[in-house]
Amino acid sequence: MIRTDTRLPGLATRAIHDGQQPDPATGAVVPPIYQTSTFVQDGVNQFRTGGHEYSRGSNPTRNGFEEQLASLEQGTRAFAFASGMAAEDALLRAVLAPGDHIVLASDVYGGTFRLVDQVLSKWGIEHGFVPSASASDAAETVLPGRTKVLWLETPSNPLLRVADIAAWAQVADDADALLVVDNTFASPALQNPLVLGAHVVVHSTTKYIGGHSDVLGGAVVVGDTEWRGQPLSELIGFQQFAGGAVAGPFDSFLAARGLKTLPLRMERHCSNALEVARFLRSRSDVLEVNYPGLEEHPQHELAAQTLTGGFGGIISFRPAGGIEAAHAFVRETEIYNLSVSLGGVESLACVPHSMTHGSRVGTPYEVPEDLVRLSVGIEDIEDHLADLDRALGAAR
Ligand SMILES: *Cc1c(COP(=O)(O)O)cnc(C)c1O
Repeated sequence: MIRTDTRLPGLATRAIHDGQQPDPATGAVVPPIYQTSTFVQDGVNQFRTGGHEYSRGSNPTRNGFEEQLASLEQGTRAFAFASGMAAEDALLRAVLAPGDHIVLASDVYGGTFRLVDQVLSKWGIEHGFVPSASASDAAETVLPGRTKVLWLETPSNPLLRVADIAAWAQVADDADALLVVDNTFASPALQNPLVLGAHVVVHSTTKYIGGHSDVLGGAVVVGDTEWRGQPLSELIGFQQFAGGAVAGPFDSFLAARGLKTLPLRMERHCSNALEVARFLRSRSDVLEVNYPGLEEHPQHELAAQTLTGGFGGIISFRPAGGIEAAHAFVRETEIYNLSVSLGGVESLACVPHSMTHGSRVGTPYEVPEDLVRLSVGIEDIEDHLADLDRALGAAR
């Protein structure tokens, strides 16, 4: 986008225009899907506009999405991958070496835990857990000289704990380590971790960024950080090219198309979720509601400072009646389909203990077996409340 003054255009404007200029060759308003593996050269190593050679290294559709996402996260570069896990794997292999240690916030995504615990451990990477979302506990978990990465997810899944990104960034800086924030739940519409001091942002673009439950993808976004004597962006760009787990052109197109409406969708996700959380809290057949937008949430103040424009679209709660009530509830809902994943326009419900967080059973990080997680979609709020009311009644 051409900047006519120094003011950064607003989020919605950047979402629609940055990296998404009309095609210069034909004037197509939407940049085309460059569904090609390779690019013609006019002489040996004489590339055409954009310098594209082979789509593992660069592809205009993927690059357009990467530019759009880097702009929304206020980073300098973004790298798009085939899934969130592919992005995380590439990032960790780009920045870590055998003997390094990684500190994980206790309720990181199960796949992140599995990658570190079962895959990277075989390559000599060790890890420790922070027992809470607190930065002082994170500082205690750091092994001086060995910890190279701190990994944080906020708000967290499925308990919606909120962490102070700036305080964690200070702990990382003191340890000469990188702070990585998984920003999947908040999305760049509500939170920009790089602005708060984080060094790297990762996303499962499968969730809010794609936003329509029709594509898998992941991304790594960085600012101008240097790491082990090299720009971090070069290390990750090299790993993306060398490892090759890139987002394909059609997947990149779907993610870019989703990202254009992210600010608008997120407004509705947030307003619906706040109403649903208040509705659940008002019920005598609900024992506990976790949502950072409720005043009684233990980190509500912090959430109000770090999240702008809303508290996100994910809620978890425990119905009265234990595991039977939780299972009956998710069978009974009609607008909320029983499914893993989140962040799409349609509402989803799941029981994390047995569906997504099974690997935690028997550990100190096990989640309650009667906990229900809702991904609150953008349908009409009256229909949400009617559906929840009926399903809670049937589960009783
Ligand atoms: C889904 C998810 C991931 C993994 O992303 P995939 O696209 O499924 O590989 C990582 N982090 C969070 C917070 C997620 O919700």
